Amino acid sequence: MSLNPSPETGTRQDFIREIIAADLASSRCGGRVATRFPPEPNGYLHIGHAKSICLNFGIARDFGGTCNLRFDDTNPITEDVEYVEAIQDDIRWLGFSWDDRLYYASDYFEQLYQCAESLIERGLAYVDSLSGDEIREYRGTLTEPGRNSPYRDRSVEENLDLFRRMRAGEFPDGAHVLRAKIDMASPNLNMRDPVLYRIRRAHHHRTGDAWCIYPMYDFAHPLSDAIEGITHSICTLEFEDHRPLYDWLVANSGLPGRPQQIEFARLNLSYTVTSKRRLLQLVEEGHVAGWDDPRMPTIAGMRRRGFTPEAIRRFADEIGVAKRENLVDVGLLEHCVREDLNRRAPRAMAVLRPLKVVIENYPEDLVEEMTLANHPDDPSMGTRQVPFSRVVYIEQDDFMEEPPKKFFRLAPGREVRLRGAYLITCRDVVKDADGRIVELRCTYDPATRGGDAPDGRKVKGTLHWVSAAHAVKAEVRLYDRLFNAEEPGAGDVDFLTQLNPQSLERLDDSLVEPSLAGAPAGSRYQFERLGYFIVDPDSTPERPVFNRTVTLKDSWAKLERRIG
Ligand code: ATP
Ligand code: MG
Repeated sequence: MSLNPSPETGTRQDFIREIIAADLASSRCGGRVATRFPPEPNGYLHIGHAKSICLNFGIARDFGGTCNLRFDDTNPITEDVEYVEAIQDDIRWLGFSWDDRLYYASDYFEQLYQCAESLIERGLAYVDSLSGDEIREYRGTLTEPGRNSPYRDRSVEENLDLFRRMRAGEFPDGAHVLRAKIDMASPNLNMRDPVLYRIRRAHHHRTGDAWCIYPMYDFAHPLSDAIEGITHSICTLEFEDHRPLYDWLVANSGLPGRPQQIEFARLNLSYTVTSKRRLLQLVEEGHVAGWDDPRMPTIAGMRRRGFTPEAIRRFADEIGVAKRENLVDVGLLEHCVREDLNRRAPRAMAVLRPLKVVIENYPEDLVEEMTLANHPDDPSMGTRQVPFSRVVYIEQDDFMEEPPKKFFRLAPGREVRLRGAYLITCRDVVKDADGRIVELRCTYDPATRGGDAPDGRKVKGTLHWVSAAHAVKAEVRLYDRLFNAEEPGAGDVDFLTQLNPQSLERLDDSLVEPSLAGAPAGSRYQFERLGYFIVDPDSTPERPVFNRTVTLKDSWAKLERRIG
């Protein structure tokens, strides 16, 4: 039934796709599927939006339908063109296309206004002159019905006149609002004469100062769906109670479209905030370097961190859609990233915290080019030459002077393998005046070129290394979770107090193998034994900068094995 299943996971079923398949079978939606992704341009997109994008564009793909990109730009106060552009970049990067269907709710302002006048003419809307506080007071509560506004019975003529003068700018902000005339006693508070328009003198990033009244989201959204011929309007659960209003407005709009609203549970991710308000706060107060800080759960941040669109889409497919709120383990997202990078990232050697190793019996002037595979399981990725010489660097924590039982790396008198090079044995430890280890004196076995002993003797440790004379100095940024708490901000705790102070560690003196010199921003590697890394846009040819995307340790895979 699915025409074009997901490239990541094939055909998936979920309750939304079931509804759509049934609608198609009964021709309820005119035999076509049209969805939309409706971001408000008041911030950057985050992983929760990515889920919604994958769902809306994925459904269009699956059923041979269309998905519009529509900016819900009805609140000029918080919106900005910077966001409009970033949002488009992010959706494209995720791998989805709206073709020529880029729309703005603000393009419909005139049409929406006409719909409002038509509601007034049919006695379905009125101008109210109560203050905001009074409107709230009159609304009643969950247990008590609301009361009719004293202005509710204004004549059609008076309402039309006032509404037109609202538009013409004759009244100050807040003097009047336009409300739907539905039912102040409805058990659903959203149906108690909801506000449709308010006066607000604010400059709009598209319509400029053409308007001083702006439609409310609850009014603009269903009508925009109807105008665009959307068949299935998919949104998050908090709009469930708004559905009767959505249906009322669509039915009374005079527009031919009959979109159907379907709600699903928003994505909540452990150790992550996905509230735009909080993300904005992190940026504005400088807790992170910007919207694209690699610790941010924004699409821009994840891109800079080194996540791939394929991994994010796979994650969205894996979590599927639920009807009930839940908390998804961020380990699953990281698992999807690892799986994807494991396949595509070439291997390379980098030493993050270098320890000098002098191989005493290696000739002073000799340089040998060692041939290393770019990928252990994929010969098509080829090989590269890595220079080896008398002085190399290894990782500081790959050596221990007094190793505990399970430590199989280098120690005094012990032999280990330098990956793809030789077996070396540690003969001596050189320390500085403070007793810090500054250098190891080792010897190598010339008969073990490539890393294997002809006599078949085994060594337990294999270390990565770089040649001192050839290595390139690099800055490495190690990222960890931005929050220490599984649900930041839960239970009245200020989420800022749960920031992880160790979420970024910068290493200034790391060394990478020479083949990485000049690698362009966005290149991804697996640094052997350390994790996946991406070249940051801050890189220069003189000073490459690498971001750690994820470590190699996969808590999710372990968890799955334990369960399965
Ligand atoms: P707000 O409306 O408070 O500014 P928002 O997160 O709803 O924030 P929108 O720009 O309105 O932001 O969202 C665009 C679309 O993305 C909506 O359809 C919304 O339902 C969906 N969306 C937002 N956050 C999530 C989430 N965490 N999980 C799934 N979908 C989400
Ligand atoms: Mg929203």
